[in-house]
Amino acid sequence: MGLDRTDVAVIGAGPVGCVAAIALARRGARVTLLEANPVGKRLAGEWLHPAAVDLLRDLDVPLPPTARRESAQGFIVFPEDGSEPIELPYPDGRSGVTCEHHVLVGWLRYVAGTLPGLEVRAGVQVTHIDEQTLHYGQNQLTAPLIVGADGRGSVARRSLGLADRREAVSMMASVRLTDVHLPYEGFGHVCLGAPGPVVITRIAPDAVRVCLDVPSTGDADFRKPQTLIHRYESALPASLRPAFRAAISTNKIEWAANQRRSRRHFGRPGLTLVGDAAGHCHPLTATGMTTGFLDAEQLAKSHSFKQYRKHRQARSLGPELLVEGLYRLFTRTDPASRALRQSVYSTWRRNAAECTRTMRLLSGDDVGLLSFGRSFLMAVGGATSLRGSAGLASWFGWLGKSVFPRVARHGVSFL
Ligand SMILES: Cc1cc2nc3c(=O)[nH]c(=O)nc-3n(C[C@H](O)[C@H](O)[C@H](O)COP(=O)(O)OP(=O)(O)OC[C@H]3O[C@@H](n4cnc5c(N)ncnc54)[C@H](O)[C@@H]3O)c2cc1C
Repeated sequence: MGLDRTDVAVIGAGPVGCVAAIALARRGARVTLLEANPVGKRLAGEWLHPAAVDLLRDLDVPLPPTARRESAQGFIVFPEDGSEPIELPYPDGRSGVTCEHHVLVGWLRYVAGTLPGLEVRAGVQVTHIDEQTLHYGQNQLTAPLIVGADGRGSVARRSLGLADRREAVSMMASVRLTDVHLPYEGFGHVCLGAPGPVVITRIAPDAVRVCLDVPSTGDADFRKPQTLIHRYESALPASLRPAFRAAISTNKIEWAANQRRSRRHFGRPGLTLVGDAAGHCHPLTATGMTTGFLDAEQLAKSHSFKQYRKHRQARSLGPELLVEGLYRLFTRTDPASRALRQSVYSTWRRNAAECTRTMRLLSGDDVGLLSFGRSFLMAVGGATSLRGSAGLASWFGWLGKSVFPRVARHGVSFL
């Protein structure tokens, strides 16, 4: 049985655990990074917003050689009525990055392993934690700071006695198309009009990822290739449909569960949660990794757990509301939601400042609730047919139910 000590033990070398370990090691801590699994080709994040790219640069972490800045300049929304697509570029000419998930994680693990003071232990499954000691196999590791970066099913979170609180939202079905041309190269494409949004991104010079949001209706039919083609194909740009049909028909479909868990708990002094272990949302706005990297950065900077928690709680609600609100807006088919959607399209089309605000909210550059509230009221104001309707009341009901308990719990600032 081995017993050893380190300054910081990070559980999980996913994207966020690697960045947390690197950020803490850069500040002079002796860090041990423990990972259970080899890098596998699983369906997960492949888009980083500009804030995450800046953060990697500040940590002196080069981007993976195959990462693509030119493919992440913003998003194009294709409305369900076939009207002109709407361009939402990142403000100030900034750009994010796309990169295949296993390539990004493999690269971050490699960079972590080259840093002095940072030891990566692979093939290590942490089973439980007592106070400041974590256990794996016959071994123990003690550290004054343990970081739970072990994803949605976090053992660190479990050891805190927290209820799981994961809610199923929907499923994600994905196919990889090769040798196709996107109508707007350089942008992520968000296509509406199917049972859930379809998000398309270029992840390699010859490869494009198509992600279909599939409702969790319990209807097994939805998992059948023919149903996916029938229900989703018409929402895709016409030029991609033959390749889409071929990929789905040959059943090269990857699946992942879309879940959410509000970021309420960040651990305790000596055991801190970061990334998906702290909370996660539907991947529509591609914020999971950027949010996690910002957790990692703040953890390395904070002088106390309290400071870390206060900072991250205050900055989690805005992005959570945006993704919940957009997902609701893009999937509901009642008349009020349809009118609200048209109002949002028309605001984006004529108001460049509102596009900028949306993209600043989306990319985590602006996390203020006031900005979200202003955008929400502008959309409501534009949907004149809705005034006084029950459908509109349901949207205000959602907003009230989402915001006030969280604000009351955490005292989150509106600015
Ligand atoms: C379909 C889909 C698409 C997405 N798209 C995007 C996107 O485009 N952009 C974006 O930012 N986010 C996206 N996300 C979310 C993103 O993938 C996650 O937010 C991100 O992977 C979280 O990183 P993490 O390091 O916190 O957790 P994880 O990626 O889950 O990594 C946790 C690591 O901990 C290890 N581990 C777990 N338990 C233990 C243990 N007991 N002992 C040792 N090791 C352990 C695991 O093996 C794993 O390597 C998407 C998610 C899905 C499902």
